[in-house]
Amino acid sequence: MTTLTAGARRNASTYAARGRRARRDAAARLAAMATLWLGLLLVAYWWVAGGGIRDLGSWDSALLSTGRLTGLMASVLLLAQVLLMARLPVLEHAFGQDRLAHLHRLVGFTSFTLMLTHVVLIIWGYAGGTIPRVPAETWRMTIDDPGMLLAVAGAWCLVMVAVTSIRAARARLRYESWHLLHLYAYLGVGLALPHQLWTGQELLASKASTVFWWSAWATAALAIVVFRVALPVQRSLAHRVRVSSVVAESPDVVSVHLTGRGLDRLHAEAGQFFVWRFLDGAGRTRGNPYSLSAAPTDDTLRITVKDLGDESRRLRTLAPGTRVMFEGPYGRLGDRARTRDKLAFIGAGVGITPLRALGEALDYQPGEAVLLQRYRDEPLMSAELQDLARTRGLELLWLPGHRRSSDSWLGAHAGDADDRTSLTFWVPDIDERDVYVCGPTAWTDEVVRTLTAAGVPPEQIHLETFSW
Ligand SMILES: Cc1cc2nc3c(=O)[nH]c(=O)nc-3n(C[C@H](O)[C@H](O)[C@H](O)COP(=O)(O)OP(=O)(O)OC[C@H]3O[C@@H](n4cnc5c(N)ncnc54)[C@H](O)[C@@H]3O)c2cc1C
Repeated sequence: MTTLTAGARRNASTYAARGRRARRDAAARLAAMATLWLGLLLVAYWWVAGGGIRDLGSWDSALLSTGRLTGLMASVLLLAQVLLMARLPVLEHAFGQDRLAHLHRLVGFTSFTLMLTHVVLIIWGYAGGTIPRVPAETWRMTIDDPGMLLAVAGAWCLVMVAVTSIRAARARLRYESWHLLHLYAYLGVGLALPHQLWTGQELLASKASTVFWWSAWATAALAIVVFRVALPVQRSLAHRVRVSSVVAESPDVVSVHLTGRGLDRLHAEAGQFFVWRFLDGAGRTRGNPYSLSAAPTDDTLRITVKDLGDESRRLRTLAPGTRVMFEGPYGRLGDRARTRDKLAFIGAGVGITPLRALGEALDYQPGEAVLLQRYRDEPLMSAELQDLARTRGLELLWLPGHRRSSDSWLGAHAGDADDRTSLTFWVPDIDERDVYVCGPTAWTDEVVRTLTAAGVPPEQIHLETFSW
């Protein structure tokens, strides 16, 4: 009988656990997408059953009929959007931050476009399909039709949210102003409901559709209340997290050490992030996401933050004992996404923090993991990383200097070879590894381009960008 080495025995059970989790997450992603498509197909079916196709016979009724269909589709996507914003743990775990943010944008702008189409087609249809009558009809509908004044206010809220979410517009806004405006999305969704109930013939046409819409609305509202409000408050009260110390890591980076009760019950993992509110005055209302920069323990957590603006700068002044509210843990940058034994970590600037935690916590044999650190002046956390090199056999590669060009993620010191040639020279088996990447969006985009060119399959690339 052959005896398995420790590594092999560990691998067998780890593989099984990893496989189970990966299958669960894949099933959750599939179920989420299937539920969304099923919702869209159901409302399309009720539209057809309600005479939607039959009404395409004449111009004005065709406008009204397609207007109703786009309105129904926009509503389903809008409710899906609320669920995507609700931080449901099953979606957070299955999709991770970056994919959820991408889905959120896609569903958001599709729903918004369908809503605008709905408004134009319905007004045009009630104006008998003639443009000159549109202004008068718009006024009549807004004033006379039940719930329409609220719906118009709701639509303007959603217009404001969509316009300020266009990247160019958003770049001109301070994050907290953008975030505040974004909260109007909830008001916009809420104000749209009355006119759907009072004028939406498909909504209450059958018992099934009535049950569908009311349960969809109730689920969305409940998810927000439970996962965005109740759960964070309950956890923050239960775990009593406090600042224990603040340590300067560099002139503009500090580590905030936190203690709390029964933190193991949060099941937080290295690589994950929380949204933190430090209750020490001005910033108590604002939540900022920061990743764990060390493996969590039963009673300690640590974050490491670069001074980029008001909130991040304020952390330097936090006093020990400051109470902390938090949401999370969130994110998939960790063991949850892992598919391989061999690892590579590629981080820039403060983006090295979750990777340092992964280098401490993930299970690997000496030589199985390599960390590439991009930095301008001084590598962040170099002493701790060298410690991991000594104790865990983590291989370190320091890549200093300013970025050599906007289409390269490497510094001037990397020489003339292109990014892919350099990377495959440093890590020849990069395509056999899980690669965890963290840093600013423009930089991570270049890294992902190089990894793809080097043959790393998308399921082995795990990303966290520090700016939304
Ligand atoms: C998932 C995630 C994990 C992060 N982990 C870390 C970390 O471990 N260490 C670290 O130094 N930084 C981290 N960041 C970035 C950090 O959240 C922002 O730098 C911080 O919120 C800036 O806030 P501010 O008020 O100091 O600056 P502001 O002047 O308000 O903003 C500076 C920049 O930060 C962005 N930003 C501001 N507030 C937020 C917010 N609530 N959410 C997302 N982006 C915001 C703005 O878009 C702007 O680009 C992370 C970001 C994300 C999305």
